[in-house]
Amino acid sequence: KKNVYQFSEGNAEMKPLLGGKGANLAEMVKLGLPVPEGFTITTEACMTYLTQDHYLTEDLKSQILTALKHMESSSGKKFDDTEKPLLVSVRSGSMYSMPGMMDTILNLGLNDKTVESLAEQTQNERFAYDCYRRLLQMFGEVVFGIESQRFEQYLTHVKEKNNYASDNELTAEDLKEIVKVFKEIYLESVKKEFPQGPIDQLFMAVEAVFRSWNNHRAQVYRRLHGIADDLGTAVNIQTMVFGNSGQKSGTGVAFTRSPATGDKHIFGEYLINAQGEDVVAGIRTPEPIDTLAEKMPKAYEEFIKIADLLENHYQDMQDIEFTIEEERLFVLQTRSGKRTAAAAFKIAYDLKEEGVISKEQALMHLKPEMIDQLLHPVFSKEVAKTAQEVARGLPASPGAATGRVVFDAGQAKKYVEDGEEVILVRRETSPEDVEGMSVSNAIVTSCGGMTSHAAVVARGMGICCVVACANLTINEAARSIIFDGGVIEEGDFISVDGSNGIVFLGKLEMEKTEESSVFKTIMSWADEVADLNVRVNAETPKDLTTAFAFGAQGVGLTRTEHMFFEGKRLTEMRRLILAGDSAQRKAPLKKLLEIQIEDFTNIFNITQEKAIVIRLLDPPLHEFLPHGAEEIRQLAKELELTEDYLEKRVHSLMETNPMLGHRGCRLGVTFPEIYEMQVEAIIRSACGLVKKGINVAPEIMIPLVGVKKELTILKELLIQVADKIIAEENITLDYTIGTMIEIPRACFIADQLAEEAEFFSFGTNDLTQLTYGYSRDDAGKFITTYQQKKLLPADPFQKLDVEGVGELMRIAVERGRQVKPDLKIGVCGEVGGDPSSIAFFQQLGLNYVSCSPYRVPIARLAVAQAAI
Ligand code: ADP
Ligand code: MG
Ligand code: MG
Repeated sequence: KKNVYQFSEGNAEMKPLLGGKGANLAEMVKLGLPVPEGFTITTEACMTYLTQDHYLTEDLKSQILTALKHMESSSGKKFDDTEKPLLVSVRSGSMYSMPGMMDTILNLGLNDKTVESLAEQTQNERFAYDCYRRLLQMFGEVVFGIESQRFEQYLTHVKEKNNYASDNELTAEDLKEIVKVFKEIYLESVKKEFPQGPIDQLFMAVEAVFRSWNNHRAQVYRRLHGIADDLGTAVNIQTMVFGNSGQKSGTGVAFTRSPATGDKHIFGEYLINAQGEDVVAGIRTPEPIDTLAEKMPKAYEEFIKIADLLENHYQDMQDIEFTIEEERLFVLQTRSGKRTAAAAFKIAYDLKEEGVISKEQALMHLKPEMIDQLLHPVFSKEVAKTAQEVARGLPASPGAATGRVVFDAGQAKKYVEDGEEVILVRRETSPEDVEGMSVSNAIVTSCGGMTSHAAVVARGMGICCVVACANLTINEAARSIIFDGGVIEEGDFISVDGSNGIVFLGKLEMEKTEESSVFKTIMSWADEVADLNVRVNAETPKDLTTAFAFGAQGVGLTRTEHMFFEGKRLTEMRRLILAGDSAQRKAPLKKLLEIQIEDFTNIFNITQEKAIVIRLLDPPLHEFLPHGAEEIRQLAKELELTEDYLEKRVHSLMETNPMLGHRGCRLGVTFPEIYEMQVEAIIRSACGLVKKGINVAPEIMIPLVGVKKELTILKELLIQVADKIIAEENITLDYTIGTMIEIPRACFIADQLAEEAEFFSFGTNDLTQLTYGYSRDDAGKFITTYQQKKLLPADPFQKLDVEGVGELMRIAVERGRQVKPDLKIGVCGEVGGDPSSIAFFQQLGLNYVSCSPYRVPIARLAVAQAAI
């Protein structure tokens, strides 16, 4: 089996097999870019190693050695050679980019002998020993699991002893000493020598990179980003190029556009005389890439050309790693850059306007969930003006957040478990902090640049972040921050403005953001290509107004019971259901009618001529009953009933399984007065608007139907009431009567139901509950465990279960439309706003989805993507 591919044998399409890094390196070789030569060991080989062999098979070793021979002959360098020693990097890289989560080793091939040859060959002893100490450090960490602290502490010690401000001042002599001590650290901590044979080094490194697929931080990252555990990582072996070989060398990373705002300007950082991860790890504060134009104009120009070429080739903003060795430019990695939501929209918009991609491609560039971040709140200008500033740094990831200061990931998790909101403050972050970062409202660091770990991860997670707050002295051990105006302790509130790079003292108030014109335009493209409409589930004026501002095209569900659960209305409702006979029901019905007319008039005034589905009373009567002796005593007084009578009546209405009990259309059948009253209110309010020239067309929905007769008799009853009023008012009013499809039986008899119903709406919450037999109010207790144990791929109440619930829906659509080909069908459950479920609703040929107000824009983008 072929487990090893030369870069020249791969291409960008081979990401599953070669990993993102390997596939893109191959693609760049195909494009003729200056990429150091190398080869890739496949993700398949990794998974075989992890799940079956647990060692490198002879076959795999021999494939690696063959590829290595090839590399030696074409580079003219050789492993363990005393004249021209070959050095390589061993780099992890899985199908999805997981920056810094797995391991990479640089300068492999150095040993006590080749380090001397390298020094001689380059006439640069300092450089050779710098490479060697880096190899010892990375190899020790990755292969033997020696704590990085062990090495770092000694490095710091040497620097302090000599009063050096940075690594660059270390001399060749210092570095030789450091190499000696690093070797001793091996002996002390793992009782092993650093292996001197390059081939041994290589095989050990490959195994360690394979294993790094399962290290803790990689597992956490995968869980957070929904990446499967069985993909494995590829291993890339690549000849080294040296950014640390002097003042004419350097290393850097750049984004072809701003990952924070999306602005079209190359955006990056570099360090002169540095290697590999120095930039990302925030060892020294890097320089902005624009200054490279003066320092090394030729390399800069070439880089700009390559950046443009890559962006056009991939049709997306790229995140590029490069190294300059003696003024020669090399490209070491390219990938689609992680970006904030605002940048994602701006970039998609600009690429379309520049003619690089089509409208449809622009829409496919975006993740619907990002919109949540885009509409996140900001501090009002007024508030920010008077607040006390603690620090200013770089605006690494936009947004605003408040929370209590914590200094490490563990503490962050602890506070959050106690229901607190936190802001993680550190000198710099590392991959171990990712879990803690994900639960924080914001990240603040005192070191690092715009491409530091903290900045990249925060942008990827959509968490606001300010880095490089140089005036903050963060004492992680003492759990305090010293700033120019005082001290902040762990647990104190701060506020972070990630859009402007400012940290404030205390908890500032926030306000809603305006939608940008870029956002509005993209959403209008979405509406143009969409097949499905997006409606909202709402009944309060506030929710309705918000949803229409977000572009809802109608109302998919107005839940009338939400209107009954407060104050005076609840009392009247209770008077009604606790009444002994229909005579006693008269008075409360009359009051409720008045109230409902007012309710619906208010609603129609907002919805105007937009489509609106109004569901008749649905919840079990049980939910309206008073609880406990005290409440019964009070209610008895209020309703002028004897306690004794009330208690008996309440008792008789109590249910063991209210959600399977006296609810929905069953109420309509047993208490027809309630539905009659509701329809009267709907029709009277609608008539009021029609008289003003506004053609309201209510869609009246009967819930929980499982038997055709339920629909038949209720429909007849409601039409009688409605038509009588319309005749009285002497106007024309278009209203329709339809049914909710939320009982499995209803799906099977959808053809019968379609004979009566003028529309269907899937209530996926109840349909899921009844299909699985999971009580949706109690499922939380086991669903998480089910997901962890992989019994369920997702919570079916959040993401439609296509196999089961989806199949019932398919049957219902098919049978319903056999009878009425034009039957209007929508979805109004929780999953109505879930992008992955929406793709399925598109396939079913539904007419609309309906969701909560804040999900409306997300759904608008998702329905567009489903249609493309
Ligand atoms: P990560 O996935 O964490 O970014 P990489 O494999 O990209 O890890 O490598 C880490 C750093 O080392 C990067 O800055 C990269 O550019 C650098 N690097 C990797 N291979 C080489 C090489 N052959 N020569 C010089 N630098 C390299
Ligand atoms: Mg790495
Ligand atoms: Mg990289």
